[in-house]
Amino acid sequence: MMLRLLLAAPIAALAAPAHAATGEAVNPWVALAYLVSGVFFILALRGLSSPATSRTGNRFGMIGMLIAVVTTLVTHDIANIVEILIAIAVGGAIGLVIARRIAMTSMPELVAAFHSLVGLAAVLVGWAAYLNPGAFGLLVGDSIGAVSKVEMGLGIAIGAITFSGSVIAFAKLSGRMSGSPILLPARHLINLGTLAAIIVLTALFAMAGPAETMPLIIALTVLAFLIGFLLIIPIGGADMPVVVSMLNSYSGWAAAAMGFTLGNTAMIITGALVGSSGAILSYIMCRAMNRSFISVIAGGFGADDSSSGGEAKEQRPYKQGSAADAAFMLEQAEKVIIIPGYGMAVAQAQHALREMADMLEEKGVEVKYAIHPVAGRMPGHMNVLLAEAQVPYENVFELEDINSEFSQADVAFIIGANDVVNPAAKTDKSSPIYGMPVFDVDKAKQVFFIKRSMGGVGYAGVDNDVFYMDQTMMLLSDAKKMVEEIVKALD
Ligand code: NDP
Repeated sequence: MMLRLLLAAPIAALAAPAHAATGEAVNPWVALAYLVSGVFFILALRGLSSPATSRTGNRFGMIGMLIAVVTTLVTHDIANIVEILIAIAVGGAIGLVIARRIAMTSMPELVAAFHSLVGLAAVLVGWAAYLNPGAFGLLVGDSIGAVSKVEMGLGIAIGAITFSGSVIAFAKLSGRMSGSPILLPARHLINLGTLAAIIVLTALFAMAGPAETMPLIIALTVLAFLIGFLLIIPIGGADMPVVVSMLNSYSGWAAAAMGFTLGNTAMIITGALVGSSGAILSYIMCRAMNRSFISVIAGGFGADDSSSGGEAKEQRPYKQGSAADAAFMLEQAEKVIIIPGYGMAVAQAQHALREMADMLEEKGVEVKYAIHPVAGRMPGHMNVLLAEAQVPYENVFELEDINSEFSQADVAFIIGANDVVNPAAKTDKSSPIYGMPVFDVDKAKQVFFIKRSMGGVGYAGVDNDVFYMDQTMMLLSDAKKMVEEIVKALD
């Protein structure tokens, strides 16, 4: 079903054999090369749908991109080849340095920053096409065709929304701005009004004569930048993962719109693939988070103005244990369920964790890993880390497949997770994570909770009742250090 959806857009795109505006015929070899690259992209998405095939999927994606880039370079007709190669070298060098330096925990903010560049590129291409339509083959007679103007307007609008939305998401994810929702009064009215104005301006722009278009396209661009900002500031806490995948989707549609402006089928294909897969991922994440897709994209529709995020915590008694205590109890257990979270990524504790799990299994303990759909800071974050540590895929379970097993578990071993085990999501209507499904760790006989201090909170910034339960033992330390000590004690 998903594959059919993904295939529909590129095939429709390829079915159009000529540039929409000029009717100029597309070289059949170029169309074929773009089709082949599109097939590789689809194979890449298919491969990326499972950790076992993700490496092959990545390779398919690289081959597809290589074919698309080489074909575009060979058939380029907009810029000089030397200029293009210099731009590739500069961009590639910057990308290489960033990719080498970036910590895995900062990936989501990097992805948000990259999305902002896709959005900005769409705006710039739209403006370049508007200012120099002849070079883009968009002239019908001596003015830009109405269809091209609609594509241009949409490309600029989606690009600008992607840009400003991604900048805000970057600021929130990197801690440069508070992760809590910022709720403006009458925000839904303002958002709806701004969106309506963008649609009206696009229509007016398409119909306007050459002398009247400039103020319209300026107004459209400014309003689109504004709405991107307005849509993302009210979103916070548990809804941020949806924002990341939604902006991913927007960046795809921005690229597709750019593809129409440039008459480039490969861009339409890749844009449609990214746009539709991002939209499907957003929908899946919304379902996993028990959120309504519309309310999230409408900008914090469900956010409660009285949300308790970031409140000061009260002092309550809790039990603290050591690595030796934990090792002793783990050895006695029959079944242990490990819940990894963002803190495991920060500490890079996955390898030590795997070693600990192997030792327990050798001692006859059944060990399973439970992964929440929003654990960490990006979709699939925990799966990537566990795969890196070569944890067998068959021991890794999704929330809905393992949640009923906590009642049979001797130990729920929480390592750097917090929001995803917080029972406030089930009980406290004023909590920013209310409604998100969480692991029922309270049903396990023992809970071990690794975090660095009692002061630290999870992404949503709320206290967690699990710390204070009778069966909970707090293991306060860096996750890697603690697990290494447990491993030593198990030896
Ligand atoms: P949380 O962010 O809720 O909690 C992280 C925990 O790790 C904290 O308790 C922190 O406590 C601890 N920690 C941090 N560093 C270390 C360390 N070095 N060693 C040991 N512990 C450490 O993580 P979860 O994975 O449970 O939840 C994910 C949250 O992030 C959700 O609210 C989700 O909505 C949000 N989010 C998810 C995204 C996604 O796509 N997956 C994207 C954006 C946001 P302490 O500081 O005391 O050590």
